Amino acid sequence: MLVGDAAHTVPPTGAKGMNLAVADVVLLTEALRALLLDREEDLFDAFPDAARQRIWKAQHFSWWMTNMLHPQPGAGDFDRMRQIGELRTVVESAHGRAYLAEAYTGWPLPGGLPG
Ligand SMILES: Cc1cc2nc3c(=O)[nH]c(=O)nc-3n(C[C@H](O)[C@H](O)[C@H](O)COP(=O)(O)OP(=O)(O)OC[C@H]3O[C@@H](n4cnc5c(N)ncnc54)[C@H](O)[C@@H]3O)c2cc1C
Repeated sequence: MLVGDAAHTVPPTGAKGMNLAVADVVLLTEALRALLLDREEDLFDAFPDAARQRIWKAQHFSWWMTNMLHPQPGAGDFDRMRQIGELRTVVESAHGRAYLAEAYTGWPLPGGLPG
């Protein structure tokens, strides 16, 4: 079982890497507790997929936010104006702000722990 940066292909930017590593460990801890103390294999078997789903959501968020906030090398006027339009779309929408806040702070973990 791999956790943290070693399992993430590339550490997600935007202050996500350590938080994602901790989330992996919380998921794996629960899976090992169930396996070793309760002799239940379901969580352990499901761990790689459960972790991967969370990791790729975070990878997408980091990629999307970084691309939205940073000027791209070689970008033309169209790209720059489109980027500002994208930022306005997010910050001027309650749903956009809610998604950004949810994805930045992380998704809930088992037991209601914040991600
Ligand atoms: C400049 C910078 C700023 C960051 N800011 C943030 C932030 O604000 N928020 C956030 O969530 N994340 C941030 N991150 C990302 C975060 O630091 C990493 O995602 C996190 O440390 C990953 O933890 P890890 O335990 O998987 O790996 P690591 O922290 O890299 O731990 C791996 C450990 O294994 C050891 N090791 C390697 N090879 C061997 C070996 N062969 N034998 C024994 N030990 C070995 C290493 O020395 C290291 O101590 C930042 C990263 C950088 C570089």
